[in-house]
Amino acid sequence: MYREGHIGLGLLVATPFAILFSFSIAPQWGLFTFGFAFITSRAPDIDQSLPLISHRGFTHTIWFGILLSLFFAIGATVALSPFIMDTGSLDGLDALASLLMGNWEVFIIGFVGCFAGFVSHLVGDILTEAYDYTVNPFWPISNTAYTLGWTQADSKVWNWGLLVLGAVATAGTVALI
Ligand SMILES: [Zn+2]
Repeated sequence: MYREGHIGLGLLVATPFAILFSFSIAPQWGLFTFGFAFITSRAPDIDQSLPLISHRGFTHTIWFGILLSLFFAIGATVALSPFIMDTGSLDGLDALASLLMGNWEVFIIGFVGCFAGFVSHLVGDILTEAYDYTVNPFWPISNTAYTLGWTQADSKVWNWGLLVLGAVATAGTVALI
């Protein structure tokens, strides 16, 4: 699956969470949820530009997904901190801890949005013909390879079809919130 398919699938998987956060917290968080999923929907394929790491190796495990989502969720909470709270005289880890506890909604939305995008990437790869690169999401605890092979990586129907579906789901959610 190519970029278009992964982005579309990421938006699709993020849609129920975006609706949930929009209605339970505030509309703008639905947009952030899509944003986070958009970023991570292609992140695992950074392995193709890194030396020494095999394709569909560690960056395609849920452990990497958890680390990546934590990184973005903490980063987003800190980046948004000037707008959401004043940590005053606190600094270092104390400031970070109070930021995360005081803005747990941002942290949760960041984590869930990123993880949804990440998982959608694995789903996309599992749907795609694996050739020599299977997805082993629980490696090294389990070496089980998941592959369905319903489509070829370069299928225009799947790639563009998913992108259109993801865009429609996103536009529909924005209209709804
Ligand atoms: Zn991949």
